[in-house]
Amino acid sequence: MSFVISAVTASQSFMFWSVVVLGACVGSFLNVCILRIPEKTFFKHTRSVCPACGALIPSYLNIPVFSFFILRGKAKCCGAKLSWQYPLVEIAAALIFGLMYFKFPFAGWSLHGAQYSVSDFIRYCHASIFVCLMLTMSVIDAKLMIIPDELSLGMMALSPLVAWIHPDLDLKSSAIGMVVGGGILYLVAWGYWLVRKQYGLGFGDVKLLAAIGGWLGWQAIFPTLFLGSVVGSIIALVFMIIARQFSWQAKIPFGPYLALGAVTHLLFGPELFIWISGG
Ligand SMILES: [Zn+2]
Repeated sequence: MSFVISAVTASQSFMFWSVVVLGACVGSFLNVCILRIPEKTFFKHTRSVCPACGALIPSYLNIPVFSFFILRGKAKCCGAKLSWQYPLVEIAAALIFGLMYFKFPFAGWSLHGAQYSVSDFIRYCHASIFVCLMLTMSVIDAKLMIIPDELSLGMMALSPLVAWIHPDLDLKSSAIGMVVGGGILYLVAWGYWLVRKQYGLGFGDVKLLAAIGGWLGWQAIFPTLFLGSVVGSIIALVFMIIARQFSWQAKIPFGPYLALGAVTHLLFGPELFIWISGG
């Protein structure tokens, strides 16, 4: 009996560690996207090149997370300092893929053998890909204050397919989500311009919230805006206090907070709703 149980645990942890390793490799790909999509050089190189000197990186130095620490953060070819972004994004993606498996355990083992859930597998893939896209756009927005159309419009274009495949989403709530998500921030941007005669909100944010609505349905729009604004205000205040300068004019990217709001809603939405409504 105890042998059977430990075999069940072992095979479940085998699945867990497999998705963690897969996540780290996906993180490595996200780093390429973060670097090359804003530069429009995505298809220029098919193999990894050193961002400093352009030398080809041999595959044995291209292992996610480990290579950075083995090389002690320095490129082997030219000695250039490697950005912490590389291991951090890879670790984040590994965590995303691992934690999503707890949320949607699509393959389980019981005493009766292996059990698979196709719906949970779709939920798992959808959530992992969504959070990875949010991470990619957030890092680009934090670095460059832009959200590339390739990502936001690309997500919107894929929305009907996502809504069609996903067991909990339908085409109607996805389409309404895009219109409501994009529409609300468009009105906010327009209103701000009327009052202040300057752009306070980028159109990248408008397209990002439309993409979030398309992938999560219109029900996600208000929780995303609420959670994103609360977290965004707290973090912005903390930074202003640390920097000892307060300004209503401070330029802060809103994209990462919208992304954080959407991810929080996706993972904890029902639980948060029960908690807030005092149930
Ligand atoms: Zn180099």
